[in-house]
Amino acid sequence: MNIHEYQGKEILAKYGVRIQRGIVADSPDRAVSAYKEIAKMTNSKFAVVKSQIHAGGRGKGKIVGTEQRGVQLAKSPEDVKEISTNLLHNTLVTHQTGPEGKVVNKVLIAEDAYYPGDSEPKEYYMSILLDRAKACNVIMASTEGGMDIEEVAENSPEKIIKEWIDPRVGLQGFQARKVANKLGLTGAANKEMVKFIYALYQAYEGTDSSMFEINPVLKTSDDKILAVDAKVNIDDNALYRQKDIAELRDKSEEDPMEVEASESDLNYVKLDGNVGCMVNGAGLAMATMDIIKLYGGEPANFLDVGGGANAQTVEAGFRIILKDPNVKAIFVNIFGGIVRCDRVANGIVEAYKSIGEIPVPIVVRLQGTNAEEGAKIINESGLKVSSAVKLKEAAELVQSVLK
Ligand code: GDP
Ligand code: MN
Repeated sequence: MNIHEYQGKEILAKYGVRIQRGIVADSPDRAVSAYKEIAKMTNSKFAVVKSQIHAGGRGKGKIVGTEQRGVQLAKSPEDVKEISTNLLHNTLVTHQTGPEGKVVNKVLIAEDAYYPGDSEPKEYYMSILLDRAKACNVIMASTEGGMDIEEVAENSPEKIIKEWIDPRVGLQGFQARKVANKLGLTGAANKEMVKFIYALYQAYEGTDSSMFEINPVLKTSDDKILAVDAKVNIDDNALYRQKDIAELRDKSEEDPMEVEASESDLNYVKLDGNVGCMVNGAGLAMATMDIIKLYGGEPANFLDVGGGANAQTVEAGFRIILKDPNVKAIFVNIFGGIVRCDRVANGIVEAYKSIGEIPVPIVVRLQGTNAEEGAKIINESGLKVSSAVKLKEAAELVQSVLK
């Protein structure tokens, strides 16, 4: 689950990470009052207006059809009013949102952290994430902050510092110092960075995150280290024990079909092809997508209906798949292990009848316990459904119904 920058910063602050302070607002008037409060607090007329969407690249992104950037410096209440009017309820397109963009529902009015003094501030990059290949967390840092880290990784990979954390002992003091030293920091800024890394790691672990990316980490002109941005991903499987964080979920940022699927306990991920898939078990779902591709098709989605496929889950699955206008055929691939194929077949027939006419052909492959009985039920149902027992047969059938 992703959360907004302002929410990520609130978490960081709780763990003792210094942050660029800000107040979130959902209307231009509230943005102006937030600005006045920030201006009083910082004794400066400068503040930044930042679009809150679940995607990065906002600084370079633009509101559709305008020149308005997603992050902009303001120096008066009038500025704030104008910028937040341009941003709120409009669609921001960045290189991370895709061409359809994301609607800005909130803006963060943040202090201008860059110029409290006279010397030049410096931006760094830092993230903590799970390195699945090494089965441990990794801290990544770079002196090339503020810019696209993917570009740095591509063009100058030597500029990315990596420090792996042994899960048995956690982050060690020498590791935090090593990162700070490699970033070229000395004196007070070095000490601040060590503290920053420590607190950031506590926040990452304490919230069961799978990623915490701070880009930029700012060294201010008075040697303070603070988080200017926060991109956070929480492990969905830990949300049951992170109740406070689970409440931060913003469904308006998620694909509506994926939200609907999760409400029926289905794991659905939309893809770009034309063959809708309904499968029990994630591994079988992956294999099913592979075989569709092998036979020249393109899967329209990943859909795992879980272990206990019944009429309700099958019906919910059909309804979600059919909302995708690209779907030209549906491939149901169920392995009857705990669940019996004849029960699933009855579920499919029931779901079909309850939805009414399904406008695309359906190929059902039932394998495992009572597979033959299941196929018989499908074949005798009189519905526009064909059945197969072998996976290869099913994939060929899908291709033939598409023609
Ligand atoms: P992103 O583009 O979505 O990653 O959003 P960021 O929060 O990283 O902000 C984008 C850019 O805005 C940063 O890299 C900074 O260059 C700039 N920025 C953010 N906060 C401030 C600020 O307080 N003062 C100034 N002058 N620039 C800022
Ligand atoms: Mn950023």
